[in-house]
Amino acid sequence: MTKIFEGKVVLMTGGSRGLGAATAEAFARQGADVAITYAASAEKAEAVVEALKAKGVRAIAIKSDQADLSSARPLIDKVIAEFGKLDILVNNAGIATQGQLVDDPNLDDEKYNRQWQVNVLGSIANTRAAAPRLSDGGRIIFIGSLLGSYVPFKGVADYAGTKAALIGYAKGIARDLGPRNITVNVLQPGAMPTDMNKDVAGELPPLDAFLDLHPIRRFATLEEVAEAVCFLAGPHAGYITGETINMAGGLGI
Ligand code: NDP
Repeated sequence: MTKIFEGKVVLMTGGSRGLGAATAEAFARQGADVAITYAASAEKAEAVVEALKAKGVRAIAIKSDQADLSSARPLIDKVIAEFGKLDILVNNAGIATQGQLVDDPNLDDEKYNRQWQVNVLGSIANTRAAAPRLSDGGRIIFIGSLLGSYVPFKGVADYAGTKAALIGYAKGIARDLGPRNITVNVLQPGAMPTDMNKDVAGELPPLDAFLDLHPIRRFATLEEVAEAVCFLAGPHAGYITGETINMAGGLGI
């Protein structure tokens, strides 16, 4: 395989599991040095790092809970101290808090507010810390969700809102960073087979009914979503910026 990311440094937030781990591996397979973050899963993060190093690249795991906005600058400092630069930021880390309706008098404000903190403010803090230090010609990719644009069931307003917020923010910083040839895009996957999906499975419609809404009647594989992230991060996507790309098997068309 051509190692199109040789010499590039990637920061993948939330790389200990799920899509982040799969995408970190896809970048490493194509030659990138990769830093991953995690909040709690130290052992899983270290296992991912070992798998990345086995592909012949440099890799580190950094514990950095992005609910704490003050963690952003030290995170970027560590990546640059380790690898000397940063070329590609993938804002992947996120949580899903779903199931309660907005008129539920017992809505768990604290839990739902934390979701805004992690998914939106944490991603923004990381981006602000990274932007001045990102290489010219670099890439910023936000992992949104199809729910940021299309909401086919109840109980997901806050999650959908967090993902929709990323769209406007990404367009804004695409304008700001365009003069440096840095592209900024949002990739919006549909359902993927990860822990997050299992965690919220009880809040979704029955699986068959949900799949029936998809022209391509299945979940995405992590590998195909990871490759789409790599495409947006790669040399052939230098003229795609400010875009929101759905990857949801046609759900919502
Ligand atoms: P997982 O729950 O499988 O993994 C989440 C990752 O994010 C873990 O590495 C986790 O670290 C990290 N993380 C969670 N909270 C924090 C935090 N406060 N600070 C730093 N890292 C944190 O999620 P997925 O892989 O499914 O999701 C990845 C992205 O894709 C998310 O943005 C999600 O919203 C989005 N998405 C997911 C879909 C799905 O069906 N799964 C569908 C559409 C979008 P740790 O292991 O330490 O907890």
